[in-house]
Parts: sequence; C-alpha cells; structure tokens
Amino acid sequence: MADDVSRIHQLMMVSGGVASRSTLLSLGATARMIDRARSAQILQSVRRGIYASAEADLDQRRAVRLGGKVACLSALRRHRIWAGTDTRLHVCVRRSAHDLHIDEAARVGAPATIQRSDTNFIADRGAPRVHWQRSELRELESPSYQGDWLMPPLISLRQAVVCQNEEHAIASIDSALRTRFVTEAQIDRLFTQLPARLRHLRAEIDATADSGNETVVRVRLRRAGFVVETQFPIPGTSKFDLLIDGVVTLDVDSKRWHGDDGQISWDFDKTLCSFAAGLPSLRILPRHIYESWPRTLAIISRTVFEAKELRDFRRMRPR
Ligand SMILES: [Zn+2]
Repeated sequence: MADDVSRIHQLMMVSGGVASRSTLLSLGATARMIDRARSAQILQSVRRGIYASAEADLDQRRAVRLGGKVACLSALRRHRIWAGTDTRLHVCVRRSAHDLHIDEAARVGAPATIQRSDTNFIADRGAPRVHWQRSELRELESPSYQGDWLMPPLISLRQAVVCQNEEHAIASIDSALRTRFVTEAQIDRLFTQLPARLRHLRAEIDATADSGNETVVRVRLRRAGFVVETQFPIPGTSKFDLLIDGVVTLDVDSKRWHGDDGQISWDFDKTLCSFAAGLPSLRILPRHIYESWPRTLAIISRTVFEAKELRDFRRMRPR
C-alpha cells in the first residue's frame, strides 16, 4: 500500500504537481492506487477528475479550479521567460467553458507585498485574464506531461505576444530564444500564426539581449531613430548592453536586487573603462524606463548629441 502511494507521488512529481485521472491511468496508475493516495491525502481533488499534490502552487490550483490551464504570461514566467509587467494570472480555457467562477479565482493570489524574483512568480490576487483556446493553433502544440495544467511553450509565447504591447512582446521572444525555450525554427512557425499587424516585429528580434528591460530600451531607442548596437565589448570589462550612435555606452540594470558590493564595485570600474575608451557611459534602472522615460530619453539624447558633437569637432580640428 505504501508502494502504491509513493508511486502516485512520483507520477505527480513528473506531472508537475497536477494531473488528471486519465493522465495518471495512462502513466500506469490503477484506480485502486489513486483511491489509496486520496485517502492518504497525497492527492487532493481540485476539480472533477483533476488532482493536485502538495507541490502544486497557487497559480496551478487557481487555473485548474477555473477549468483552464496556466497560460500566456503566467506560463512564460514559470520558465523564467520575460513576461512584462502584468502580474495577473493568465489562464486559457476551452471555447466551450462556462461558469468560470472568476470571483472565486480572484480572491486568492500572492499579496502585493511579496517581492517578486525569478523564482517567485506567483500571480497577484484579482480577476485572472482569461484566454480562450483556439483549435487552429493545435499545430503549435507538442504533447507534455504537464498538459493537464500548463499550455505548451509556443502557444504560451503566442498568447504573450498578442497579450502585451509591442516592446514587451519583442522582449518575450528575445528572452524565449536566448534561454532556448524555443528554437529559431519555432519562431518562424510562430510568426506564420500571428495576426498580420504583428508580423513586422520579426525585424526587431535580437536574442543577444540580456534581459527584457534591455530589449525594451533597445526597441525604444531604435524606434526613436538611434543606431543601437547590442552587447558592445570594451577591453578590460564585460560587454555593455547597448552602444548608441557609436558614441555612448548604456547598461540597463535589470535586477532590482542588484546591490552586492562586488557588483557595485565592478559597475564603477566598468564606467571608468568606457570613459577610458573615449565613450561616455550611462546606467539606468527599471524605474528610469517605466516611471520617467521622457526624462531618461532626454538625458540619453543630450549625452549622445554632445558626444557626437565632440567627436565631429575633433575630426575637424587640425592636428
Ligand atoms: Zn495573456
């Protein structure tokens, strides 16, 4: 009997903490094993025919209770893919779904006081963003043990591209490519399945971006007319995120918790190395991107303008 229970526990781990009765049966469980695991409270019924084990987190339980799956931004975040700034739970339900119990799902979620990080991705309390399953996208799917509660990678990415604004959509694709969550060939397929209004984003993808915030800044600067190189090397230090118009380096500090002494010391040295190479250097934080962009852009523009003026002046000056 203990063996039955531990076997079920193993299968639940493989399935990511949530599995349907039919999945468990297809993986070799028997009805008797499932009954025993339920009486031993290894399995908890979250919805008719779908069970959760103790490993299941709040996002999984909320999505399944709603009759759906973790999708879109919530799915990407579980894989540590950039998913913008919307921290609601994104759920995908079948076209035929009804009686969604949104109120029930809205009552639970991470309290706003919780500090987010790469490993703490649980969605906020409040009404989830509901996506409706589209059967024509089935060809983007590949079977997975987590199919009972999680949308597949490429469908999640497509949902995230359509669900976000353009700069965050590009950042999600950059991030998915950089982390090898998807391949270039899959991105080709993704673009054939996107609405025509979004196909032009293809030209703005750059998988060398170190972070979503870096992508957002790159996209904004290029759209503002700057020539932006990415991952620019300068001798003696690590690569700069961006080189603007060939004259100013820019680093985007993405980590809000970026603050240990070693890193700060490295960043000071990095700034000096840039100036030593004749390139003024700027360093910005997420708040400079999302809370005061017009001012940030004005500062970047002025720094770049003056650096170009100085470069041109030196070129004209007789030696
Ligand atoms: Zn969404």
